[in-house]
Amino acid sequence: MSYIDRHIRAFLLTELLQGMWKVFTYMFKPCVTLNYPYEKGPLSPRFRGEHALRRYPNGEERCIACKLCEAVCPAQAITIEAEPRDDNSRRTTRYDIDMTKCIFCGFCEEACPVDAIVEGPNFEYATETREELMYDKQKLLDNGARWELEIAERLRQDAPYR
Ligand code: SF4
Ligand code: SF4
Repeated sequence: MSYIDRHIRAFLLTELLQGMWKVFTYMFKPCVTLNYPYEKGPLSPRFRGEHALRRYPNGEERCIACKLCEAVCPAQAITIEAEPRDDNSRRTTRYDIDMTKCIFCGFCEEACPVDAIVEGPNFEYATETREELMYDKQKLLDNGARWELEIAERLRQDAPYR
């Protein structure tokens, strides 16, 4: 572009008008951005979010303390202790996940024979301290209660491919 052309464009504000025209045309097109956190995009049924421990509809814990998830976890983020109950069923007395170690590989969920430990749809669990990311059994069960409907639907959609 010649020296004169550049000065004519600058004098007539051509580039400014082109930019304003572009903005004007976009006013009539569908919005491509989301107003997060008030709007959220779709999530895949295989999305691996915050962990949760599930219960059966009668309230009984699904987890049978087989420790497969603990054994398969490549980050060694899961710690389980278990004892038999009075009725000889086996249940965990401790189920901890160190979320600062977790790499969200999903192996724990895949290893679980009873769909007890799952990675739910929640991705909004940022904390201000590391301690808050040391999840215990109660926290995981609370997550399960909170997200059970979404988790059950996700597992139902993914079942044909497992
Ligand atoms: S998602 Fe992977 S790294 Fe995280 S707890 Fe499960 S097995 Fe361990
Ligand atoms: S969560 Fe599943 S894999 Fe892990 S100990 Fe419980 S039953 Fe076994």
